[in-house]
Amino acid sequence: MAKKKVLITGGAGFLGSHLCDRFINEGFDVVAMDNLLTGSLDNIEHLMGLKNFEYYHYDVTKFVHIPGDLHYILHFASPASPIDYLKMPIQTLKVGSLGTHNLLGLALSKNARILVASTSEVYGDPLVHPQTEEYWGNVNPVGPRGVYDEAKRFLESITMAYHTYHNVETRIVRIFNTYGPRMRLDDGRVLPAFIGQALRGEDLTVFGDGSQTRSFCYVDDLVEGIYRLLMSDHPYPVNIGNPDEITIQQFAEEIIKLTGTNQKVIYKPLPTDDPKQRKPDTTKAREILGWAPKFSRAEGLKPTYEFFKQKIKG
Ligand code: NAD
Ligand code: UDP
Repeated sequence: MAKKKVLITGGAGFLGSHLCDRFINEGFDVVAMDNLLTGSLDNIEHLMGLKNFEYYHYDVTKFVHIPGDLHYILHFASPASPIDYLKMPIQTLKVGSLGTHNLLGLALSKNARILVASTSEVYGDPLVHPQTEEYWGNVNPVGPRGVYDEAKRFLESITMAYHTYHNVETRIVRIFNTYGPRMRLDDGRVLPAFIGQALRGEDLTVFGDGSQTRSFCYVDDLVEGIYRLLMSDHPYPVNIGNPDEITIQQFAEEIIKLTGTNQKVIYKPLPTDDPKQRKPDTTKAREILGWAPKFSRAEGLKPTYEFFKQKIKG
């Protein structure tokens, strides 16, 4: 039987590159597409030269064409960390809207199945806790984070429209905070920020009073959930995340302990519209996909810390 071909947009990014690894290991032909807005070829260097791997340097907000057969599309291109999307608001809105439209059109023309990367940010600053897929969210469309949140809400909406009106096989994953090797040290997300600060001997910057919560999922668990969702027949959004919730203050203390430094915690202003609490309800992932996270934070932080140590050593 001919090999199946998958297109992964954002393939040179943190999550996209781990997905490339997974699909290569499963025996697929993998095409990674990226314009390196926030990604890096370092993340896929080890795949270059493999005969079942291709890299296209391309901006998916322009018309996307892939020659020949295509069976699956994973649309992961988008700035993802708050400092990235606050710096690049228009690119973020365009890749979530025009980019998603282009990839749905490609899926329609190739008769391919498409999975799009949505986010827990569609719930905004949630008033329902933990967040179930039925919750419609509490998003400020004109606040600074609105460029990301609304781009992803549009991504979900146009994806459902292609499913309903064009019968495209679509999947929507709502990803909660995920971490692991290949995150950028300077991407501003809390985990690289804290580990980077600890490794450089700087104090850890907690925004606000640190009482806001997040729930961190190790990348291998996320990739397993995405793989299962793609292979399922479920067209509606599914949360994938680790429900183990922690305050940002506790997280800073955990990182200080892990890195064995004597750094202090210092407090900086809380960014506008920073969600107060976030924890996935993963009942659907469990019941529909038979998925549950396997890595505890202690287990996932070990390889992540090793990765950042090597990065800082240069
Ligand atoms: P990342 O910044 O490491 O990767 C995004 C990739 O998309 C980068 O390589 C970037 O260069 C590429 N890209 C951006 N705009 C593009 C364009 N117009 N054309 C082609 N490539 C483009 O971020 P990530 O953490 O790997 O996130 C990947 C996806 O997962 C994003 O869609 C993000 O919204 C979603 N997501 C991530 C998380 C998380 O915790 N990491 C949580 C929720 C959702
Ligand atoms: N945060 C922090 N210090 C930092 C970076 C982030 O206290 O140096 C906080 C941020 O305000 C938020 C949480 O950590 O409450 C998670 O932030 P991140 O940017 O990682 O992701 P978010 O879930 O907000 O998209």
